[in-house]
Amino acid sequence: MTSAGRFAPSPSGELHVGNLRTAILAWLFARSTGRKFLMRVEDLDRARAGAEAEQLRDLAAIGITWDGGIVRQTDRGPLYAEAIAGLTAAGLTYECFCTRREIQEAPSAPHAPQGAYPGTCRNLSEAERAVKRAVRPAAVRLRSAVTAATVQDVLHGSYTGVVDDFVLRRNDGVTAYNLAVVVDDAAQGIDQVVRGDDLLPSTPRQAYLASLLNIPVPEYAHVPLVVNADGARLAKRDGAVTLADLAAAGIPVGQVRDTLLASVGLPAGPVEQALAVFEPAALPREPWIWPGMAGPDA
Ligand SMILES: [Zn+2]
Repeated sequence: MTSAGRFAPSPSGELHVGNLRTAILAWLFARSTGRKFLMRVEDLDRARAGAEAEQLRDLAAIGITWDGGIVRQTDRGPLYAEAIAGLTAAGLTYECFCTRREIQEAPSAPHAPQGAYPGTCRNLSEAERAVKRAVRPAAVRLRSAVTAATVQDVLHGSYTGVVDDFVLRRNDGVTAYNLAVVVDDAAQGIDQVVRGDDLLPSTPRQAYLASLLNIPVPEYAHVPLVVNADGARLAKRDGAVTLADLAAAGIPVGQVRDTLLASVGLPAGPVEQALAVFEPAALPREPWIWPGMAGPDA
């Protein structure tokens, strides 16, 4: 299988300039290293009708090209079920009946890292599980043998983070992100993962899960987010932050693309123009404050 990078948007709404900036960087990382670039729609949760088509149109408008068709996570349930079944057969999962509130209120285990699942359901007897199953459906958790793992990141270097008994399948039957992303990247031959650095803390969990599934851990590059003037993650309420809003304000897509390229020290587009000078080590490590863009009438 050839090596590949990818962009994996969630079709919950329109892409904003922060998402588009990450997509450009993921494309540059992949294309500058001769990789394929794949597009995967992460629609297990929060999909909004029409959002996928809008997002793909916006990505194409800024010059992002991808190989092959669109892969959608909702089409891949059997693959996820197979992975969870394999882990279960190896004794590496257990059923969890906790509500969110019960997890918050449970005393944390001694030496357990902050935010880790307290292990309430880890050692239930079969009889105890039978009683609980009659009350509410179970989530499936990983029976982790470690409490932390270390990953290598192109921008962050060596990064160590929590690995707890994280959820693989939620109690509503939906596959959890951490499982789906690992299974999909492996099945698609993706060996380079470039995404927003808000996902860095969950990366050690994914790398550990990959090792249990005998999947090679990809190269990671977690790129800084785009934030508003208050330092909060950019959102729709921050004004004109989507291509549609910016176009309505009189700003052509090429100008938006060039502003995003300039924010990472790259020359004006088309994006292919940046390939020859793209240097991952030179990328900023800090979030970029969206300066806003004024139209010709402003
Ligand atoms: Zn539990």
